[in-house]
Amino acid sequence: MSVQKKYKNAHFQNHQETKAIRGGYIPGPDLSHSEPLHCTSSYHYKGSEHAVKLYTLQEQGNIYTRIQNPTTDIFEKRMALLEGTEAGLATASGMAAINLTLTQLLKAGDHVVCAKEIYGGTSQLLSVTLKKFNIETTFVSLADSEEWEAAVQPNTKVFIFETPANPVLTLADIEALVTIAKKHKVTTIIDNTIATPILQQPLKYGVDIIIHSATKYIDGQGRAIGGVVCGTQAFIDTLRTVSLRNTGPCLSPFDAWIFLKSLETLAVRMEAHSKNALTVARFLENHPKVKKVNYPFLESFPQYKLAKKQQKFGGGLLSFEVAGVKEGAKVINSVELISLVGNLGDTKTIIGHPASTSHQQLSEESRLEAGITAGLIRLSVGLENAEDLIADLENVLGKI
Ligand code: PLP
Repeated sequence: MSVQKKYKNAHFQNHQETKAIRGGYIPGPDLSHSEPLHCTSSYHYKGSEHAVKLYTLQEQGNIYTRIQNPTTDIFEKRMALLEGTEAGLATASGMAAINLTLTQLLKAGDHVVCAKEIYGGTSQLLSVTLKKFNIETTFVSLADSEEWEAAVQPNTKVFIFETPANPVLTLADIEALVTIAKKHKVTTIIDNTIATPILQQPLKYGVDIIIHSATKYIDGQGRAIGGVVCGTQAFIDTLRTVSLRNTGPCLSPFDAWIFLKSLETLAVRMEAHSKNALTVARFLENHPKVKKVNYPFLESFPQYKLAKKQQKFGGGLLSFEVAGVKEGAKVINSVELISLVGNLGDTKTIIGHPASTSHQQLSEESRLEAGITAGLIRLSVGLENAEDLIADLENVLGKI
């Protein structure tokens, strides 16, 4: 059997761990075992007739890297396999994935229902940028399904949410929200960045479109910015040939290659992040200077049962509350091992103060509605030894 035929048969690729390592790749004539990096902006046409067929979509093939690239193609296919969707489309960032999807689905006069607890960038895109184009959004509580149903209007086209939500870790009951959306013929978009397809596969509950910021756990080592949209072949084809082609936020092939290499370790990383995060969450929960810890796999978490139903592990993200702004600033400024940077999902543990950074564009009222109090600290637990992380935190908490 030829090497290509062995790959095409794709036998035994039944588990997420295997798909993350092998999915989407069939070696070319060079028989590379590792996925090759295609650094090219354009591709030869076999002649003018071939060029016409490619441009008029009568024939599938590479034209220009803004629209497709063989390395990016493997990444897109692998992500679609992991999410269980027919197809995927890579973008220059997570925000580009969200913007491209929303602007593809919506037109002036349409209405969106969005979780109050969504990433600050998404909420700004809806409430500032898309509002300028007469697209209105109602923000509702992520965990309260009744609010979602009550917010539906005759012109509602999209539900968009993220679960677990960053940074408060509130969960959406995915099944309940999809049931409401289907009843009203509304398209559901989930941002699966924090859980990744290793912890949670939203397609099982009937979600239509799954989006990621690949910048986070998919890269996992803080090196590249990117995004991906997973959905039906028809939706992704239109996204590529209309939205991506017309507006241009394509992923660099080099970054697609980085993400491919990272996906190979996604399953082991997510399990290790989750184990470390649970250990740190248990330590914080028992510390007298900590008022509250948000982590889905802590027994004290209000949605613990839902977390166990929807997620394989608790994930790498947690947040905790200290007395106020002064104490929060002291913790953030005094940690020695843990990094103070604007990212999450890295092997290196990262601390942040959402009220003054990622969510500072929101009004105080919107911040509090999203559960972001002045003393809330976000911790993206990395892969260092948990005892070292606890020692760093214990040292600073003792000083406040
Ligand atoms: N979605 C979530 C949950 C995020 O945390 C972020 C960024 O922090 C984004 C989307 C945006 O992704 P990017 O920074 O890759 O544009």
